[in-house]
Amino acid sequence: MSVAFEVQGVGITELAEEFGTPLYLYDGEEITTRFQGLREHLHPSLEVFYSLKANPNISICSLLYRCGARAEVSSLTELVTARRAGVAPRDIIFLGPGKSRAELAACLDEGIYALVCESLGELALIDEVARERGITARVALRVNPSFSVKGSGLTMGGKPRQFGMDEEQLLAETPELAARYPAVRLMGVQVYLGTRILGEETVVENTRRILDLAERVSAHLDFPLEMVDIGGGLGIAYFDNEKDLDLAELSAHLNPLIEGFTSRHPDTRMIMELGRFLVAASGTYVTRVRYTKTSMGENFAVTDGGTNHHMAAVGIGSYVKRNFPMAALERMDEPATEPWHITGPLCTPNDVIGKKVPMPALRAGELVGVQRSGAYGPTASPVHFLSHGYPAEVLVLDGRARLIRERDDVEVMLGRQRLYDATGTDES
Ligand SMILES: *Cc1c(COP(=O)(O)O)cnc(C)c1O
Repeated sequence: MSVAFEVQGVGITELAEEFGTPLYLYDGEEITTRFQGLREHLHPSLEVFYSLKANPNISICSLLYRCGARAEVSSLTELVTARRAGVAPRDIIFLGPGKSRAELAACLDEGIYALVCESLGELALIDEVARERGITARVALRVNPSFSVKGSGLTMGGKPRQFGMDEEQLLAETPELAARYPAVRLMGVQVYLGTRILGEETVVENTRRILDLAERVSAHLDFPLEMVDIGGGLGIAYFDNEKDLDLAELSAHLNPLIEGFTSRHPDTRMIMELGRFLVAASGTYVTRVRYTKTSMGENFAVTDGGTNHHMAAVGIGSYVKRNFPMAALERMDEPATEPWHITGPLCTPNDVIGKKVPMPALRAGELVGVQRSGAYGPTASPVHFLSHGYPAEVLVLDGRARLIRERDDVEVMLGRQRLYDATGTDES
């Protein structure tokens, strides 16, 4: 008997049979444990907001909310998701560079804690929408700092960006900026410096500079700092030669900074927004091998799921393809003896989720999984490509597997299209 992958005692073979493949499988216990581990280390004044962008499923959001996370949202649907998952308006912030009038209106009508504003044009629109409602909008400024700190998968600061307002522009503004927008109350600063950060010292250095910047900007524009959002961008290890963050090491240096800041600003809400760090490790993308073949001496396993559901597996942050951790899920104990290309059903040579992955000799019909795939999975993938649609998602909680999203079927895929029959008598 081979050893099969299982989640909280539920075996992968049964799960794949019950829910079908391809499938995203999430381990709720891993999410809970991770959140609690983070909470045990972080300074108690630092509130954790879950960035729904990483995995917008409402049950994932609800689970994190029950753990104690708040919500950072960036679209109308994400806002409604967070509300329906139970998150209170006072624990929601909304950010994003291209907010619509409808989104701004919804934020104000819901009474969320803060709109994170990314441009002067947006500030004017917030003012207008708030004035129509006869209310004052709570607005934090997203600042694009003049500095950058190396060490993240994607560096945000110190570059021309569509996100936020340049630090230099804000510091060149007169303190009367706020007075030009009477229905806006400036109350906070947000900075996000990048994603997939795996260096403890990078997070600490980012935070030190962001706290500094927040004090400078609020002093210059003369508004009280009710909140500072230090971003986050904490990563998890995906590839060989990467290492997970050491939370003890991180907090040993981060917490004194937070402590110093809160002692100067006891009434300021301190926020860290995290997506990937909270959910990535919980997820496995489960596919079934349909065919095996060789081409010019190399092994291929063609599976029922590919980059249409897992675009990140093509390679992130690098021109050289690096493989996510992958496994033959029903033979976890068997030695990897040969290199396999793991490819999907798409008609494009780029549909490769693993390149020369060491595996036991794969057979048609068995399950292959991509691990650490709980963040930026289907939501960040071209799920409509070749009209395959969104995969099913299953969350295992308290030892029980629950379907938290049905896979799209043909009717779902075609249901939003309109047939214009050029030869027929259609009169619409
Ligand atoms: C994407 C994003 C996040 C979440 O990033 P992670 O790296 O997944 O934690 C947080 N804040 C902002 C502004 C973002 O754009």
